[in-house]
Amino acid sequence: MSIFRNHTPKRRNINGEVKSYGDHREDLKLDFKDRCGYCNDIDNWRFIWFEIDHFIPKTRNKKPFLTIKTETDYSNLVYSCRSCNNAKRNKWPSNDENVPNVNNEGFIDPCKDEYNNQFNRLNSGRITPNTDLGDWMYKAMKLYKPQHEILWNIEQLYILIVEIRELVAKSPDDDIDLMKRLIKLYNTYDDYIQQLFKH
Ligand SMILES: [Zn+2]
Repeated sequence: MSIFRNHTPKRRNINGEVKSYGDHREDLKLDFKDRCGYCNDIDNWRFIWFEIDHFIPKTRNKKPFLTIKTETDYSNLVYSCRSCNNAKRNKWPSNDENVPNVNNEGFIDPCKDEYNNQFNRLNSGRITPNTDLGDWMYKAMKLYKPQHEILWNIEQLYILIVEIRELVAKSPDDDIDLMKRLIKLYNTYDDYIQQLFKH
């Protein structure tokens, strides 16, 4: 078991007028360090899948809901993968836009440190809930979906490939054992990439 994530994204204080909240995409990508605020998936392998979520939803039950902030208010935006954005949708159990969660139901802004404690990461890469509120969010955002586990493993393998690439550069040309390990690693990496296409 390891920690869910080791960095809390922080939004800069951006107040400039924009035409559409989509104009903040690059700002969000930078502040969220290329990761979904909710599941922590990195966008390297699925860039077009990354969207912008309104933490407090714009509408609820087909009626306008957001009044304390505007639709383009940067402090209410989250860089989010399509999976989390689609699953979260307009969920907001408290009925009060000032109250993100009540009785262990609802959300925590992923830019708050306490978000990190709501989940764990198994050695397999799977996300698991760590609190009752985390369990609610886990189900609401479908964090059990295999793609999060697959992407986590692809990222770990990529880190390993970079490390081994450096080792290979320093090793003699006839290091057969190292070459075999490298081929095995590339094959495992390729397996996960193939799995990603199926999810
Ligand atoms: Zn996500």
